[in-house]
Amino acid sequence: MNLLHRNAVVACGSVMLIAASVALPAARTTSATNDRPVTVVDGTLTPGWEVLGSSGNLRALIGTPASLEQSLVLQPLLSGLPLGAPGVHSLGLLAPDGDSLVVVTLESLRAIRGARLAAYRVGRWPTRGLAARDPRYAPPPGFIPVTPENESTLVSTRFRLSDFLTHDQQDVWPKVLVLRVALLDKLELIGDELRHRGLPGELHIMSGFRTPQYNAQGVGRKGGRASESRHMYGDAADLFVDANGDGVMDDLDGDGKITVRDARVLYAVAEGVEALHPDLAGGLSAYPASSAHGPFVHVDARGVRARW
Ligand SMILES: [Zn+2]
Repeated sequence: MNLLHRNAVVACGSVMLIAASVALPAARTTSATNDRPVTVVDGTLTPGWEVLGSSGNLRALIGTPASLEQSLVLQPLLSGLPLGAPGVHSLGLLAPDGDSLVVVTLESLRAIRGARLAAYRVGRWPTRGLAARDPRYAPPPGFIPVTPENESTLVSTRFRLSDFLTHDQQDVWPKVLVLRVALLDKLELIGDELRHRGLPGELHIMSGFRTPQYNAQGVGRKGGRASESRHMYGDAADLFVDANGDGVMDDLDGDGKITVRDARVLYAVAEGVEALHPDLAGGLSAYPASSAHGPFVHVDARGVRARW
C-alpha cells in the first residue's frame, strides 16, 4: 500500500515535470539513463541521469535534507519521503536492472560532540588554512549514520555503504561515513571502462572514507597520508581490481607478476574516464606494493585535476 502510494506520488510528479518542460528537447526515453529524474516508459517509471549518474549505475541519492529539497528536478521523486530523518529511505522506484533505489539523508555534523558520535571516535575536520580558503576543504555538509541494519545498502551497482567505512573501531556503532555520489559515479565509470577494454571490472576499495582522527594517525613521512586528504571528504578511494578475490590486485598487464605496472593499467583507465567526464576530475596516482598492501591506485573526485 505504501509502495503504491509512493508510486502514485511519483507518477503525478513526473506528469507535472514533463508538462512543465515541453520547451526542452524530448527525453531520450530509449536510453537506460535519460536526462530527466524520472520518465514513464511503456507505463513503467524509469529513473534518469539525475538519479543514476553518468555511469547509469548509481543506486542512491545522497544529500542533506535541505540540498535534496532545493533540487527542483528531484522534487517529484522525493515528495512525501521523511527526508528530515537521517539515514536510508526507499525511493519506491527501481533501476532498469531491478535494483532498489534509495535516498540517503545526511545527519548534521552538530550530532558529533566532543569529536565523537556517541562512542565512535571521529575527530575534527580542519577549519583553518586551506579549509577556510577553499570550500572543497570546508567540513562536509553532514554524514551518513551507518548502523548494522543499513551498512549493506547498495549505493551503486558495485558498492555498498560498508565498502567505504573507516577501518577502525570495528564493533562501535553507529559509525560516521562521508560519501559523495561523484566518487561512486567515477568508480562505476572506471569499472565499466575496464570491462570495455576486456579487463575485469571488479573493484575493491582498500580505503574509502577516513575520519579525521583516523587520517591523522597516518600523516607524516611514515604514514604517507596528506593532512588534508580527500579521504576525509568522502570523494576519495584507494582501490585495486580483484576479480579472483585473493585480496590483492589482479595481473592486469598479463606479465605473470603483481606490480605497480598493474596499478598503472588501472591508472590509464581512470585517466580515460576523466578525459570523458571533466566534471568528475580529481586526483589520480598509482602506488607500488609495500609490506602493508599490494599495488593500488588513488582516485578522487575533488573537482579539479591533480597528479603527484
Ligand atoms: Zn588515497
